[in-house]
Amino acid sequence: MNQLIVNPMTLSARSESTASKARRPVVAIIGGGVSGAATAFHLARADQSPAPKIIVFEPRDGLGRGLAYDTAEPAHRINVPAARMSLLTDEPDHFLRWIDAHSATAGDADALRPDGNLFPRRNVFGDYINAMLEPLIADGAVQHRRATVAHLVPDGQRWCLVEEDGGETLADIVVIATSHPPPVAPGGLQTLLKDHPRFVPDPTRAGALDAIRPYDRVLIIGNGLTSADVIASLALKGHTGAITAISRRGLRSRGHAPFPQDPAGDFLADQAFTARTLLRNIRNVIRELTATGLTWHGVIDQVRAQGQSIWQLLPLAERKRIVRHLRPYWDVHRFRVAPQVEAALDEAISQGRLEILAASIAGTNVEDEAVNCTLRVRRRRETLQRTYDAVVVTTGPGHGGILASQPFLAELARGGYLELDPTGLGLSCTRNSEAVGPVAGVTPSLLIAGPLARGTFGELMGLPQVTEHAAFVASVVVEHFQATVLGPAQTPP
Ligand SMILES: Cc1cc2nc3c(=O)[nH]c(=O)nc-3n(C[C@H](O)[C@H](O)[C@H](O)COP(=O)(O)OP(=O)(O)OC[C@H]3O[C@@H](n4cnc5c(N)ncnc54)[C@H](O)[C@@H]3O)c2cc1C
Repeated sequence: MNQLIVNPMTLSARSESTASKARRPVVAIIGGGVSGAATAFHLARADQSPAPKIIVFEPRDGLGRGLAYDTAEPAHRINVPAARMSLLTDEPDHFLRWIDAHSATAGDADALRPDGNLFPRRNVFGDYINAMLEPLIADGAVQHRRATVAHLVPDGQRWCLVEEDGGETLADIVVIATSHPPPVAPGGLQTLLKDHPRFVPDPTRAGALDAIRPYDRVLIIGNGLTSADVIASLALKGHTGAITAISRRGLRSRGHAPFPQDPAGDFLADQAFTARTLLRNIRNVIRELTATGLTWHGVIDQVRAQGQSIWQLLPLAERKRIVRHLRPYWDVHRFRVAPQVEAALDEAISQGRLEILAASIAGTNVEDEAVNCTLRVRRRRETLQRTYDAVVVTTGPGHGGILASQPFLAELARGGYLELDPTGLGLSCTRNSEAVGPVAGVTPSLLIAGPLARGTFGELMGLPQVTEHAAFVASVVVEHFQATVLGPAQTPP
């Protein structure tokens, strides 16, 4: 195995030297959440000869669950109606029909909302993607390797994937689909509270909230969808203690439209080249529509649908401006809270149990497990003194720290194959999703699938964009192989 200093030959370069020795190519996908599983699915269904060997490295039980849908918490619901969460890009209602065919929401009377939208528990979506992969696994088109990739190093013309337990696999193309690193607790909290029995740095871990007692006073850091999940889960567990949820601006994720509305506006016909113009265009359309009795939801849906084209036409400086100034507002309008979860939050507020503040932590000390916090409230001079029994971090995945989040990514960054996207949203890649690094430049055999490619593609966090992007990455792999005859045989078993 080579050290991480050689830029592997591009596939096209390789084809010139080894044109006559065709063999079955190997595609390794690191991460078997929705992005990795959907990439494998679309790749396996592509008509290719020879068909590539597709190996998905994923330590979790089953493919397609990933961080978001690998949850047994009954309060965790998909936050996009089921009618918009399909694996099949040309059949948007496929998940709905699958639910119907498998009675997958039987016993969950709350899943169906009065407006006809279905918001099942999140694990149902994980079950769906997993069920779609199972036949492909059974017939050998896709292999699920239950392993964590610890190192990824060039090996001659290929990549060598080294698992945590030492197992090695050679691949011609590698797709990085690891998406969400753990959240990062602000300031010194991580150090100060690391041994506290009710400090929850990552509430997405199974059983993370179990240590919180019904009467505990809880501080939640973050006000997005994970915070909403935590509040709904605590309510379901019978928690009655006071909760403070803080974030810089105190913005709370908005709910879904009160009645169905079509996407509205056209932000490509009147293309904005600055963040300011884009914001003005959006506000204008919202103003016009709300005057007719509609709500902002359809407008944001249209911005989201056109988001990748809008984003790609914006200069880098304007993209950065959006990330710096508009992102918090975009996030709370675009990531909508499931109605059942919204109801749990509304109830907690009306009962006086939940307070949502625009505040930051100015100081903390711990006395006999009581966490004393000084909260600095935005735009107010005075600070608040509060004491909590439990602290939960819900600031969301720390994408800005992705390169340091696991050894293989850190090593690829050190070798010059990967770098942070200039907007800080994920990993640098081309519009073909090929990794871009400061030393290697473009590496066509290393692709980025899913939210980590957001800096290049723009809106790419939830469905349907995640499955559309996975299908696109699969098509890029197919094109690579069509343009290439693979190198010397190291025939896979
Ligand atoms: C809590 C949460 C809830 C969400 N809910 C919704 C929703 O309801 N609707 C919606 O449209 N979007 C939702 N999203 C957005 C979400 O980003 C996408 O829907 C989608 O789940 C992204 O999947 P992914 O496969 O890209 O990433 P992930 O789910 O992060 O999957 C990455 C996978 O990679 C694996 N992995 C990581 N490192 C390695 C390694 N070294 N070796 C092998 N495997 C590795 C991990 O085990 C993980 O399973 C949610 C996101 C979160 C965080």
